[in-house]
Amino acid sequence: MTFDQKLKLYTLGNIEKLPQYNILTDEMKEGLRVVGNILPFRVNNYVTEELIDWDNVETDPIFRLTFMDKLMLSSEQYNKMNAALNHEHSSPADIKTIANEIRAELNPHPAGQLSANVPTMDNEPVPGLQHKYRETALIFPSQGQQCHSYCTFCFRWPQFIGDATLKFATDQAKTFVKYLREHKEITDVLITGGDPMMMNSRTLGLYIEPLLAEGMEHIQNIRIGSKSLSYWPSKFVNDADAENILALFKKVVDSGKHLAFMAHLNHWKEITTDTAHQAIANIRSTGAVIRTQSPIIKHINDDAEVWSKMWKEQVRLGMIPYYMFVERDTGPSHYFGLSLERALDIYQTAIRNVSGLARTVRGPSMSAHPGKVCIEGICEINGEKAFILNMLQSRDPELVKAPFFAKFDDKAEWLGDLEPAFNTKFPFES
Ligand SMILES: *Cc1c(COP(=O)(O)O)cnc(C)c1O
Ligand code: SF4
Repeated sequence: MTFDQKLKLYTLGNIEKLPQYNILTDEMKEGLRVVGNILPFRVNNYVTEELIDWDNVETDPIFRLTFMDKLMLSSEQYNKMNAALNHEHSSPADIKTIANEIRAELNPHPAGQLSANVPTMDNEPVPGLQHKYRETALIFPSQGQQCHSYCTFCFRWPQFIGDATLKFATDQAKTFVKYLREHKEITDVLITGGDPMMMNSRTLGLYIEPLLAEGMEHIQNIRIGSKSLSYWPSKFVNDADAENILALFKKVVDSGKHLAFMAHLNHWKEITTDTAHQAIANIRSTGAVIRTQSPIIKHINDDAEVWSKMWKEQVRLGMIPYYMFVERDTGPSHYFGLSLERALDIYQTAIRNVSGLARTVRGPSMSAHPGKVCIEGICEINGEKAFILNMLQSRDPELVKAPFFAKFDDKAEWLGDLEPAFNTKFPFES
């Protein structure tokens, strides 16, 4: 049955109105309130009604994806915020100060998110644009810097906590258009966020239409990064604006460019509803191609069977599995992170269980400062154990697909934890 309820948003301010709220224990409610004052919390009625299994909340992956858990903070951080919230003389300003102190401890800008990769034009930074890899530029539309629900593990969480100094978005004049026009090496534009599918068709069109205009022939592929298939598939099915959105997608395809819908999907449960199936079919019928990507995250999808089932289901529904990412070292990374060894094991086990059509997915990959570093395997040469690594993307295109080695370390969770093996250097270290 198609989900046809009106959108209802739940935040800390009205969470008591959620019909299932009293299923939560007091400890869970407290955890949500304490952590939700530091990291962004928002969930909508599609997620709560269609996706979360309230009979098994403690272990439900979609509940974990959207609701905070006490253990996402260190006990010191947790107690500090909890004390502030319970102190009768705390003002909202006091709580905000403490929240900001704790946020600063959570590595809010991994891999230099705010400043790195921002190109300049006439000696000025181009607002809301990132250009890291030669062929691909990212646009962060100012109206798309929020999501239909927030993921607890999101690495872009500082975008959503209302602090303007942490935000990254396009300017009103859309300076990015001029930059794209001048940079003929760019073939791909990725519209990202937040979730660009928070925008209505008219606003999204303001970002897409200029890419179809004269002088933009070098832009061959328009990508939209979105989690709307999981969080609000009605966007493409029965929202008042759904037909206009699909018409805009079709317009891109009819103009002779490729529209790549980059769906963020963490678990097969997200693509089990009738509304999600219909949304996928409707997007595909415009001629757009849906590719999928997800980080691997403890408590949500650290299980090879979840991945192989998800990839099989994606292929059956006509989507192309694209990337498996290693969760970035930001936010509650101690809670969600897992070792590179374990991530590789899950990838290999899962990919051995699918047919070639799903083996298009690459990973586990770390989006780090030098580029996307993929863990290809573990080897042992002359008694020394090592990770085999590969750059899937690099600032220096000459380094793409040139394998290299790091000393094996069963605790390593990120590139920064690794050292070169066999007396070599990492290729991106000159
Ligand atoms: C992943 C990524 C891209 C796109 O890389 P592809 O391998 O072409 O998908 C572009 N820019 C940034 C900053 C990225 O992280
Ligand atoms: S949908 Fe994407 S940007 Fe939005 S909270 Fe989730 S991971 Fe972050």
